Amino acid sequence: MMMQSVSRPKLIKNIVILGGGTAGWMTAAALSKALKPDNIQIKLVESEQIGTVGVGEATIPHIRTFNSLLGISESELMQATEATFKLGIQFKGWGNKDSDYFHPFSDFGEAYQQINFQNLYLKAKQAGLKLPFDNFSTAIAASREKKFCFAQNLPPPLLNNYSYAYHLNATAYARFLRQYSEQRGVKRVEGKVTAIKTKLPDGDICSLTLDNGKTVAGELFIDCSGFRALLIGQLLKSDYQDWSHWLKCDSAIAIQSPLHSSPHPYTQAIAHQAGWYWHIPLQTRCGNGIVYSSQYLSDQQALVQLQAKIGLSKNARINGPIRFRPGVRQRAWVKNCIAIGLSSGFLEPLESTSIHLIQASIFKLIELMPADNQFALARAEYNRLINYEYNTVRDFIILHYYLNQRKEAFWQDCQSIDIPDSLKHKIETFKLTGILTENQQGLFFKPSWQSVLFGQGLTPKQTDPRADLMTNQQALDFVLRYLDKQDETVRQMPGHDCWLNQIGVMR
Ligand code: FAD
Repeated sequence: MMMQSVSRPKLIKNIVILGGGTAGWMTAAALSKALKPDNIQIKLVESEQIGTVGVGEATIPHIRTFNSLLGISESELMQATEATFKLGIQFKGWGNKDSDYFHPFSDFGEAYQQINFQNLYLKAKQAGLKLPFDNFSTAIAASREKKFCFAQNLPPPLLNNYSYAYHLNATAYARFLRQYSEQRGVKRVEGKVTAIKTKLPDGDICSLTLDNGKTVAGELFIDCSGFRALLIGQLLKSDYQDWSHWLKCDSAIAIQSPLHSSPHPYTQAIAHQAGWYWHIPLQTRCGNGIVYSSQYLSDQQALVQLQAKIGLSKNARINGPIRFRPGVRQRAWVKNCIAIGLSSGFLEPLESTSIHLIQASIFKLIELMPADNQFALARAEYNRLINYEYNTVRDFIILHYYLNQRKEAFWQDCQSIDIPDSLKHKIETFKLTGILTENQQGLFFKPSWQSVLFGQGLTPKQTDPRADLMTNQQALDFVLRYLDKQDETVRQMPGHDCWLNQIGVMR
């Protein structure tokens, strides 16, 4: 008779994180805070020789939740990472070449009874309003004036979900989290992984062997090895869903430049003929980059274009070209290995979602953390949740490219892609009815979609019948009164640089 071998439950006592980029140290920091150090030992393996991807400086507001759960003070973090505040993203040239709109981290305007702001705005337009939708946002008005304040300083209608994030030095952030993690018992192991041992019968990973002869063993492995995806991809062969038919950019070059004027509290995403540039001001320097499709722009052309754009000498240190393939692992958790960060997927830098996806993965892992190695259920649920998260971000990013009216070959190509059905449904419903079908979960809510849809020239054909409680003229008067309040509030706000000068003193 054949004996079936059954693996016995084994308590997780050793967690091994491979990789010390933003993903690795965020994971180490969060696990060292969430798990009891007496029960579980966390080791992080990284190779100075390989280094990190060295980009990723713009964040979204969720990072504040991550930092506060870790108990990190905002001023300490901002000092350590040269951070500035970020109220949103300015998109230049994304609709047509002259278009210019913002995506803020806050809601627009003010509702009147049950008439939401979008309907008031559409009615006001019928009464002659010429202003763009994004003029009705305190965060955007403040951004344009290089001003900043915290939500608690705003009067009621203006604090409408007002929020902010940071621009930060990603290398310094990883260093800061390394210190945090080591103080909580995480052991860092230097070395390059040259071999991986798995065991029978289940094929789980049991140890990593390094080029210096060290062996690092564990029951759970977290692959934060970046684009190399050493464990989840090279070893475990988790399939990669390639989304490059939807997202055409596959390359980037980054260059830092000196700061010539006081930093503005927003990221810039400026479209060019075959992709876009980013511009991210920190306290003392700027992060710049060009994202492009190698099918439409050569690396050399991209570099020359970027250098010309930021007016830099040819001697400035260049990071890239960095190649990427937009997409996500079919399963981020395979056997006893969970991929977090670039190893699990990457769409592209637009909308600064990668650090958020790292954070979301960590939180889901902590919620589902198994006590022993019988983790089939946790694994299935984790993979389901991560897939959902990536899909909602994917649709939102595709929207920016799809909804353009530019004439260059790259942009025409983006206009003609066969977008996912979920996005098609969302755009068509909005166009006809003005309704934005909400995600039940996911990252981007109504104001984010409104920013891009209105910003790139799509206006709904109709208003909600409830809006007929008001005449068009009344709606116009109402939105203009809102604008007066907003302008007066922004006039009184301190400058963004005032806050930066006082970090650690005022808060
Ligand atoms: P990496 O930083 O590449 O780290 C990989 C780690 O694995 C390193 O420590 C390396 O030494 C280690 N490693 C690899 N192989 C081995 C081995 N064999 N042995 C030992 N160690 C090994 N995200 C945002 O949120 N906002 C942005 O504005 C943003 N901009 C981006 C711009 C570009 C052009 C790109 C490409 C990405 C951007 N991202 C952004 C994404 C962001 O950079 C990453 O999500 C983040 O840096 C996490 O990277 P990582 O830690 O997964 O990988």
